[in-house]
Amino acid sequence: MRAGAKLLLVLLAALLVLGATPDEPPVLSGYSAQASRSERDWEAKFRALPSQQNLRDYMQRLSARPHHVGSPYDKDNAEWILARFKEWGLDAHIENFDVLFPTPKERLVEMIEPTSFKAALEEPALKLDPTSNQQAEQLPTYNAYSADGDVTAPLVYVNYGVPEDYEKLERLGVSVKGAIVIARYWHSWRGIKPKVAAEHGAVGCIIYSDPNDDGYFQGDSFPEGPWRPRDGVQRGSVMDMPLYPGDPLTPGIGATRDAKRLDIKDARTITRIPVLPISFGDAQPLLGALKGPVAPEEWRGGLGQTYKLGPGPAKIHLRVKANWDIKTLYDVIVKIPGASHPDEWIVRGNHHDAWVNGAEDPISGANALMEEARSLAELLKQGWKPKRTIIYCVWDGEEPGLLGSTEWGEAHADELRQHAVAYLNTDSNTRGYLNAGGSHVLEKFINDVAQDIQDPEKKISVWKRSQLATIAEAKTPEERAEARQRTDLRIPAIGSGSDWTVFLDHLGIASLNLGYGGEDPDSGGSGIYHSIYDDFYWYTHFADTDFSYGKALAQTVGTAAMRLADADLLPYDFSDFADTMHQYQDELQKLLKSKQDEITERNRQVDEGVFAAVGDPRKTFVPPSKETVPPFLNFAPLQNANDALMRSAQRYRKAFDKTVNASALSPSTLDSLNGMLLECERKLTSEQGLPGRPWFKHLIYAPGQYTGYGVKTMPGIREAIEQKRWKEADEQMLRVAAALQDEASLIDSAAALLEKGN
Ligand SMILES: [Zn+2]
Repeated sequence: MRAGAKLLLVLLAALLVLGATPDEPPVLSGYSAQASRSERDWEAKFRALPSQQNLRDYMQRLSARPHHVGSPYDKDNAEWILARFKEWGLDAHIENFDVLFPTPKERLVEMIEPTSFKAALEEPALKLDPTSNQQAEQLPTYNAYSADGDVTAPLVYVNYGVPEDYEKLERLGVSVKGAIVIARYWHSWRGIKPKVAAEHGAVGCIIYSDPNDDGYFQGDSFPEGPWRPRDGVQRGSVMDMPLYPGDPLTPGIGATRDAKRLDIKDARTITRIPVLPISFGDAQPLLGALKGPVAPEEWRGGLGQTYKLGPGPAKIHLRVKANWDIKTLYDVIVKIPGASHPDEWIVRGNHHDAWVNGAEDPISGANALMEEARSLAELLKQGWKPKRTIIYCVWDGEEPGLLGSTEWGEAHADELRQHAVAYLNTDSNTRGYLNAGGSHVLEKFINDVAQDIQDPEKKISVWKRSQLATIAEAKTPEERAEARQRTDLRIPAIGSGSDWTVFLDHLGIASLNLGYGGEDPDSGGSGIYHSIYDDFYWYTHFADTDFSYGKALAQTVGTAAMRLADADLLPYDFSDFADTMHQYQDELQKLLKSKQDEITERNRQVDEGVFAAVGDPRKTFVPPSKETVPPFLNFAPLQNANDALMRSAQRYRKAFDKTVNASALSPSTLDSLNGMLLECERKLTSEQGLPGRPWFKHLIYAPGQYTGYGVKTMPGIREAIEQKRWKEADEQMLRVAAALQDEASLIDSAAALLEKGN
């Protein structure tokens, strides 16, 4: 953060806490004290309603049988959820889409040299775990959207299988051309692994769960503990989601019954090579049969054996074949119409489909969503009338590729661009700290909400607990100081990984993803993730066993939905946003500088003969060659745009603070202001989208092409620098700068209107 910006925030912090303890910030939205008091009263009434017993009951029912896309229980769950919504008096319906969803027909991993071994590719039922024996309904272990293929080739170990790993392999003289690679899970969206492998000439890909990452190295294995057992397998999609998510056959349009579809052979998000996931039980003999160089230290996992790279002598036969069927999705949609501004929509979603029983992923979020809806229905009966429309969505088909949300978002794109105020997402939920990420125009808003939610374990606000955790975990004195002084805790940007993707990245709707975690092994690395053991037994023994954090989640997201729906003035704020954009700009400048320094230094070492001198003649080492040093780029347009943005944000905040103390604005002023503010996230998109992947329209947040889950901030510029495309970097710089200038003008106009209204 720049010094100037920091000072501003400290001043703001001082202004905002006047007359309030840090736990009770002054009311920031709502313009007459009267209105805001009744707003807060309704919110408090709401928070008293969610019930832990209900959350438990919903989970038990929804996770009782496997419920993946196309299964009988997936449809049954959707209809059961619909019936509950209707029983509570809400206006609900199911919306269907028809999507490509491959299921396994043939799966084979066998070693044919130097010894023979056939992988089991099966997760055994456990006596203790009552739903683990539903084999007839379970999807076998597989990676959805793997290409069909039958290949036999030597094996190479590639660590996590991300681009840096291949650079290292090149130095060690190991090629994957014509080979089958074995990569471990995590450190990237799993679809990145076969994509990068294919780009390097591999003909097949096996992905396994290493005990170091989510097995016995972390703690006791299931069923004694929560971690992945020997035969546990992570299913999952390997679609090239950073290109576009959703149905591979209908990019950019809703997959309605008679939508125009691509031929399967033209669908670019299906992998180019066959892929299968395996357990570490199945991986151990394969890795054990590798020779060649010993793997670099950071590449060694938790199996008690030497990790070697190959290629071979292990020779693998891999066969994958799918049923390439079209399956029907069941999205459950609830509409609570707004009383005075029905054309402004708050959209709230969580998926209901799972890979198998899916108690944690996704029911631990879906049950909170249902409890919110039930509680809001209760408030409606008591006379609460939201100003804006609230739309609750329970998505189908998230697991294979964000199918239900993406198709719905694409089918309703025009209305959503016109009407949507914000999208609130949840997915899996466990125990611990509030994790909030998303659009920075909502950073202040979600900080305010978090102040009003009590942590079930510590009885302080979840905001306070997060702040103290940030202080505890800070790596530098500066980070600690910021956590103490900055009014708002920073929220990270979100790339992809769950159902917000179409709303944020494609439609430019300000979005938040919310969940509790950090104290249990959670979805970021839990041992039962996407296995048959993610079920009611596991969840009620090892996660949020009393559902108190499920209740906190319902309270958090429900409060956010109500506040967005009822605020007189839409509660976007721009000072945190402007501050963050400055930060991103600094990071890009540092990135370019470090690329320049790194290449300059390496070239020098090549000239000095460093690599020739240190290479062990008994080992293969391929020295790097000299490279052109990256040129300087013109950051001025971006810097100017960011300065304009900071000025407008300050002006808006000043006008806003004055307004809080003034009497209500006229309804017509409010309407024009809200109409203007509704555009604030849309301004950050561009019609042509990102280079090479036009579905992604957002210029500030997008999943990285080679990280997948992970966000790349200002992705057009960043990836051009990383991939050394200098002309494109300059073009992208101008495009982002233009969008931020537009945003600054919008904020300026809003500030002018506010000033006039005061
Ligand atoms: Zn999920």
